[in-house]
Amino acid sequence: MQYKRYVLSADAIEVPANKHTAVYHRERGGLCLLDDPARRVLHGFREGRTIPVTWLESEAADREIELIQQLAARGLLVSNEAPIQPAVSGNKINVIQLILANACNFGCTYCFEGIQGKEMSVEAEVTKIDLSRLHAPDEIKIDLHDSMYASKERFEHQYDPANRHMKPQDAVRYVENALAISRASDVNSVMIQFFGGEPLLNWKAIQAVLERFGNGERDRMQIAWSTVTNGSLITEEIAEAFARYEVAVCVSFDSPTSPSRPLKHGGDSTPLVMEGLRRLQAKGCRVAINAALTSSTWNEFDESIVDLAVDVGAGEIGVVVDFDPGFYARFGGQQIVERLWRVVEYGRYRGVVLTGYWHQIFQLLTGHDAVPERGFKNCSAKGAQLSIEPNGSVFACKAGSTLLGSISQGTALLDAQPYQAHASLRHENPAPCRGCEIEGFCAGLCLGPLEKKYAAIDAVETSACDFYRGITRKHIESLRPFEVATFDLQTH
Ligand code: SF4
Ligand code: SF4
Repeated sequence: MQYKRYVLSADAIEVPANKHTAVYHRERGGLCLLDDPARRVLHGFREGRTIPVTWLESEAADREIELIQQLAARGLLVSNEAPIQPAVSGNKINVIQLILANACNFGCTYCFEGIQGKEMSVEAEVTKIDLSRLHAPDEIKIDLHDSMYASKERFEHQYDPANRHMKPQDAVRYVENALAISRASDVNSVMIQFFGGEPLLNWKAIQAVLERFGNGERDRMQIAWSTVTNGSLITEEIAEAFARYEVAVCVSFDSPTSPSRPLKHGGDSTPLVMEGLRRLQAKGCRVAINAALTSSTWNEFDESIVDLAVDVGAGEIGVVVDFDPGFYARFGGQQIVERLWRVVEYGRYRGVVLTGYWHQIFQLLTGHDAVPERGFKNCSAKGAQLSIEPNGSVFACKAGSTLLGSISQGTALLDAQPYQAHASLRHENPAPCRGCEIEGFCAGLCLGPLEKKYAAIDAVETSACDFYRGITRKHIESLRPFEVATFDLQTH
């Protein structure tokens, strides 16, 4: 009989989860729950254990062998031979963001879109960024008077009157070009997001795109549609089309009592948004409420957003946790986790899921090698996304400042240095992340604020890390048996 020595992987992370211990591989995931005897089997490999090769190759003769097979398949037990690396994909476009309008009928205090319509010059904005980096790096704020952007190219695109509105025929052509780029990177299903500003200020272009591409069959592509809207411009016609094309509609709302989302003329936006939500509900649309937990919504962010979601039939609340590095320094990771978790728990009680970039970390680590399959961690801008402006320019994201090129370049866009720099972060995090317990799933803070604060996309904003790790742990600690693979060796 042949034997082989296996040892507990240094990448195995354990977290107590009620009566079980949760364990996962910090790069590959495979989260599972072990009872005490199963955990003892895992720990039996700490100093190394030699087992018959047949244990891993044939059908398991007992439950302990079955457990060892499962732990080895997850990379939690490794042999002396070189570990198998998950496949690394190169160029791959999974998400297409169409910027339909660089304009908005709201004046939210934190929105990176809020700058349009202001009297300003590109040079003045660029100087302001340079000054803020020099004087107060922790106080970089994202608001109407100091946007999150950080490059001359970005400001030029924001302020150019010729880049305000995407023409319907351009929108169709851009999507054709983008799908060709995706297909060339061997992708056969994409997400297309209607984005802005407020995308519904340009309903005609959205309509033209939906009618031309439908579910994508004609273009040999499976298309999942979504939009992020403030919800104030939803007519019967729009709600009907969103239902027909199964467009996931994320309506930004914050909190029923929040004063952070006034209309441009200062009036309260709530009644208009409620009307829009009711229309979507009546047509049976897939609706998520988008809320923000930021310095300006801190006092209002509470359970009432869950009650509102239930009221309008939304099963999901996407929570954008502040992109401003100063937010994490001010409130601290632990306090932010607690604030958010209270609402997560209430959501569970009422049947509403709270999601967001922070939640995707947990979701990805419950899967096994899910990142190569999906194409990105929790930031699609890192190599998986094209964000197309009305004039055809492409950035990595509406939140980002690096110009990748023009959609008319076709696949040459992906060969150029700016895209390659983003794609290199798809799997590999920057050096400060080495060894972090969630390295395989967390892409760090949103690109926009990183570019603004550090003038780089491969920076790590460590003040946000406690929050990312803390909220992921909370999810793991609250797992109940059989919500993920559960290995119980104890016989009752
Ligand atoms: S950004 Fe922070 S939390 Fe995320 S992987 Fe890096 S070190 Fe870990
Ligand atoms: S850059 Fe920011 S907004 Fe864009 S995908 Fe990444 S995390 Fe999201």
